[in-house]
Amino acid sequence: MIRISQLKLPVTHKKSDLEKKIYTTLKISSSDLLAWHIEKKSLDARKKPNLFYVYTIAANVQNEKRIIKKNRNKNITIKEENDSYHCTPTGTHVLTYRPVVIGTGPAGLFCGYALARMGYRPILLERGASMEERQKDVQDFWKTGKLNPESNVQFGEGGAGTFSDGKLNTLVHDTHNRGKEVLRLFVKYGAPESILYDAKPHIGTDILAKVVKNIREAIISMGGEVRFHTKVTGIRTKRSIDFSDEPALAMLHLEDTKTNIGEDLLTDVAVLAIGHSARDTFGLLNLSDIKMEPKPFAVGVRVEHPQDMIDESQYGKNAPESLPAAAYKLTAKAKEGRGVYTFCMCPGGYVVNASSEENRLAVNGMSYSGRNGKNANSAVIVTVSPEDFPEKGILGGLAFQRQLEEAAFAEGQGKIPVQLFGDFKKNVPSSSAGAIAPQMKGAYSWGNVRSIFPEFIARCLEEGITEFGKKIPGYDRDDAVLSGVESRTSSPVRILRDETLQSSVKGLYPCGEGAGYAGGITSAAMDGLKVAEAVSQKYMAFDNPK
Ligand code: FAD
Repeated sequence: MIRISQLKLPVTHKKSDLEKKIYTTLKISSSDLLAWHIEKKSLDARKKPNLFYVYTIAANVQNEKRIIKKNRNKNITIKEENDSYHCTPTGTHVLTYRPVVIGTGPAGLFCGYALARMGYRPILLERGASMEERQKDVQDFWKTGKLNPESNVQFGEGGAGTFSDGKLNTLVHDTHNRGKEVLRLFVKYGAPESILYDAKPHIGTDILAKVVKNIREAIISMGGEVRFHTKVTGIRTKRSIDFSDEPALAMLHLEDTKTNIGEDLLTDVAVLAIGHSARDTFGLLNLSDIKMEPKPFAVGVRVEHPQDMIDESQYGKNAPESLPAAAYKLTAKAKEGRGVYTFCMCPGGYVVNASSEENRLAVNGMSYSGRNGKNANSAVIVTVSPEDFPEKGILGGLAFQRQLEEAAFAEGQGKIPVQLFGDFKKNVPSSSAGAIAPQMKGAYSWGNVRSIFPEFIARCLEEGITEFGKKIPGYDRDDAVLSGVESRTSSPVRILRDETLQSSVKGLYPCGEGAGYAGGITSAAMDGLKVAEAVSQKYMAFDNPK
């Protein structure tokens, strides 16, 4: 295969233009181009209004070596690396019980899938509801405000990313092709092939929900089991045989979240993929032998602007309609040295009430695959670290999140509190919208979002948004809509794990975002694969790998 990089074509080009560009660049006839596919596609908007797609192409041609020699071009090379992913169990320890995966977010789901594929017949436990039931619970919450603390935007099949923008990009360095494998599995189970090459892959909540259900069915068909409404409420340890004095996992206590009926499940291996919002479970872990530490995270607001305004800033005026709703990523440094940055930006999306606890309110962003909502929204957040938390100790960050969420709930009287940026600066409540109508899932109420925060955070947010106005004209407009509180940006704790990926309780594998080893859907799923590999390096599978 030959790889051609930096192939540039105007954004309005046709597929036939790209094919022609491939054989003319290689200086071959069309009949010598046997097959080709796109490896990467990105948008180059640096020379607005001239917009280009830049491609990396893999091409199968006659006489590869002769063509490389003839062209002498650094953008035309032989494609050498192999991007396949393999994991074969090499473990020798015999498992007495089936391995358990706690949580069916991307980390738990992909870990469970990989274990099932290798013949481990895992049992997946999820405190929340199945996708079908959960979708009804979430819609009901957005309509009536009645929260189901076990089935909501954070909890339930698919985890926190289910009602999301479905961005699948990650900054994790992919040395084992885990990221590629995650995207390939997404495609296998229902996502469009374009995510394999788009520089900013995105599928939206609608496609994501279908993929999650299909992966669940695949896990079951490979001998796995998925149990909903099943929360882990206790972890029992024993003294480990092979680690002499170290505690090892012996049993999980489970509770049916609908009936509250308890049950014990014997197991020697459990993957703890509980996400960053399982505060009760963090509390439980804190009382056990499991070592954890507090970690920095970020808090702030969600900001809405008209998508047209963002499109114009990124693409210039009169850009072709075929272009996707534009995204952005901005950073600034506040005067006192703290980082302020945009996070989880949702083009053509909605702000969602993403709460999971009674009398506390958190927001986030979501979009559908078409990204055709009127507004662009993004979190604008400020880094906070353990020194900033009023309460000290391992769960100090969690207590700080709760404090902010209680203030947001009180400010909006149970609805999402919203404020115009002009009023945020003056620290006065807003009473109505300007030219931007909030696009929200869940009821909202005009008020003073600034009052939710300690002054140092409010000041940094104001400075950051003002600074962003220098990069995107209108970003700091007085009628930009701010809502709060963005408090679930990453985990407030890290559950420590050793080089075999086990916690201080042997057999218990912390995994994904909640444990502090991922940030986002794809990286959580990659960590799920990594943990499945670690389990397979220690324990023998029950069945032959699929
Ligand atoms: P989670 O997805 O949080 O999954 C943990 C699961 O464990 C949950 O289903 C929970 O119910 C279950 N659980 C918790 N405790 C227990 C217990 N005791 N017993 C049994 N089950 C338990 N990321 C992106 O990359 N792109 C995006 O576009 C994006 N948008 C987002 C939009 C929203 C609204 C939200 C909330 C998040 C978004 N994220 C996005 C972040 C992304 O969802 C997370 O990074 C990702 O889901 C983390 O995966 P995880 O598997 O580690 O944890």
